[in-house]
Amino acid sequence: MEVIGILTFTLKEMEKRKFVLVIHGGVGTILPRNMTIEKEKAYRDVLIRALSVGERILKNGKTAVEAVEAAIVVLENIPLFNAGRGSVFTYEGENEMDASIMDGLTLNAGAVAGVKRIKNPITAARKVMENSPHVMLIGKGAEKFAKKENLRLEKPSYFYSEERYQQLMLARENNEVILDHSGENKSTDKEIENNDKKLGTVGAVALDRHGNLAAATSTGGMTNKRYGRVGDTPIIGAGTYAKNNTCAVSGTGHGEYFLRNVVAYDISALIEYKGKSLKEAVDFVIHKKLKGQNGEAGVIALDKKGNYEMTFNTEGMYRGIVSDIEPARAEIFK
Ligand code: ASP
Repeated sequence: MEVIGILTFTLKEMEKRKFVLVIHGGVGTILPRNMTIEKEKAYRDVLIRALSVGERILKNGKTAVEAVEAAIVVLENIPLFNAGRGSVFTYEGENEMDASIMDGLTLNAGAVAGVKRIKNPITAARKVMENSPHVMLIGKGAEKFAKKENLRLEKPSYFYSEERYQQLMLARENNEVILDHSGENKSTDKEIENNDKKLGTVGAVALDRHGNLAAATSTGGMTNKRYGRVGDTPIIGAGTYAKNNTCAVSGTGHGEYFLRNVVAYDISALIEYKGKSLKEAVDFVIHKKLKGQNGEAGVIALDKKGNYEMTFNTEGMYRGIVSDIEPARAEIFK
């Protein structure tokens, strides 16, 4: 009886406490004129589905870590986004995925990079965080670890889609031209126009009813990437960061800029050391710093009070939010 009493009380108390889940599905030149009604609906539907899955977890008093992982698994399992099943192709015609997750309560973190066969890289990242003494595992070693953890591995054909393959063919053509000119992989206007070439990463940040934050991000990286290129997504502090005292951040955009500017941590540090609000910190980094460097970028960010931002310096960002007081809502354009 007593135990039930305590439980009832705790549950009731818990139900009064807030929760928030914010997700993204990548930034880019996402314009209404490039979108069919069917495609837009498909994107919105799956964003709402990912939000609903996370919402159920948070509503029931489970953790922010569980919620961000579950929301991302939904997005990794459909071919629409550049993560998991929908990952873009490397120069060699393979898929190499990156993912990371961070717990804002403990500052524990986990990541995988350059994995080719793991069905859900975000789950592998969480296993690294919880079941290994490390933060980051790469390539074959990460896959060996995933196997040991009984995670599902898939054949390359699972990640294949004709549309993505055609994007690779196009990128390979352009890349030869770009290489001939400069030997660098700079963004041309054409490249920026074709946002799918390097965008479509997915991410989530959550505040749970216990007052804890978490962040997670998953990607296939850039079409036509070579030489084992790894972006910001699996790098804690660049593409993903969470700390209860400051904020949870997940980024999307041109990874090299996120790496050079340590974007996710920079936002957290502005709050911690300069006393900036979440909005001030995010606006400064995305609209001033990265915009000033021509770095295409977007972030979702959330603090322990439940303030959230969905900020980007491109034409659009697939995004959505749900909380104890706001029903699930998905947005795409500016
Ligand atoms: N940031 C990712 C990367 O550079 C790409 C993206 O966000 O779309 O790998």
